[in-house]
Amino acid sequence: MTPNILFAARPEQWDIYENPLKSALSEAGITANLALDLPPEEVDYMIYAPNSAVQDFTPYTRLKAVLNLWAGVENIVGNQTLKVPLARMVDHGLTQGMVEWVTGHVLRHHLGMDAHILGQDGVWRKTIPPLAEDRPVTVLGLGVLGQACAKALRGLGFPVTGWSRSPREVSDIACLSGDDGLLKALQSAEILVLLLPLTAETENLLNAERLALLPEGAMIVNPGRGPLIDDDALLAALDAGHIGHATLDVFRVEPLPPAHPYWAHPRVTVTPHIASETRAITAARVIIENVQRGEAGEPFLHLVDRSKGY
Ligand code: NDP
Repeated sequence: MTPNILFAARPEQWDIYENPLKSALSEAGITANLALDLPPEEVDYMIYAPNSAVQDFTPYTRLKAVLNLWAGVENIVGNQTLKVPLARMVDHGLTQGMVEWVTGHVLRHHLGMDAHILGQDGVWRKTIPPLAEDRPVTVLGLGVLGQACAKALRGLGFPVTGWSRSPREVSDIACLSGDDGLLKALQSAEILVLLLPLTAETENLLNAERLALLPEGAMIVNPGRGPLIDDDALLAALDAGHIGHATLDVFRVEPLPPAHPYWAHPRVTVTPHIASETRAITAARVIIENVQRGEAGEPFLHLVDRSKGY
């Protein structure tokens, strides 16, 4: 039977994804009805974006899987009306984009680029930055994105420590887990990158107590999720000079409200949730591969473990 695929996202996203999805279907040799609107009881697969109008999955009686367009699933993972497998986005374009954004911002802080880019005043100040091998970096989260960034940073010469929920082994990365592991991972982090998902366990993970564990002048790069950090604690640590700089891509409220203190803080860089975007052409292939698997009765790829929340 021809599967029906509902694109449950905003119409402007349909404009971006329609052609890549149709090309991916054709490449995979699948005939399907792909639409922005379908009767709920006829939908076999739902391509889902966090801003989708669909919040109640009960009417979707023959749904086989929900295929999330984003890597983060905090907006859907706790939905009690969703009873079918939930897959998240794992895609080459998304990973590569994150690696580029993270390495760019880490290098900016490591090299002290701001002093030259923003502070050009006719004075010849010659400050030599340390080599990467003398700048310990910690990546919290050793999943698809965390591991890719950790490896790229290691490739540039940084000693990299990674921290995850379960013990991991990644070549040439000091892998830690558990509470003691977090303590060590923070104590050594001159630059800290957050690539954890938002769950009940990770919310406010970086609180005042844990910020205090970071070395004096540490720099934070957060492309994970805004609520991983206690904002008031971070602002206090920045004001006290304990944290040297925070580059933040994600926030509790997005867009970040114009009056939020982060915008005006001299040692905060705000980027508008652009660290890495799902890339339509590569992501469409990932989505359609899962449809193909569903139709062949094979297990779906990139499934979310709903008991863990990511
Ligand atoms: P993964 O699910 O592949 O990896 C998550 C990692 O976090 C795993 O290593 C996991 O541990 C670890 N983790 C989860 N919970 C805990 C915990 N309680 N304590 C310690 N470690 C924990 O996710 P991705 O790497 O694909 O993505 C990470 C996040 O990046 C996304 O959830 C999303 O929020 C964010 N993101 C941001 C984007 C942006 O543009 N700003 C774009 C894309 C994603 P374990 O290995 O043991 O499972």
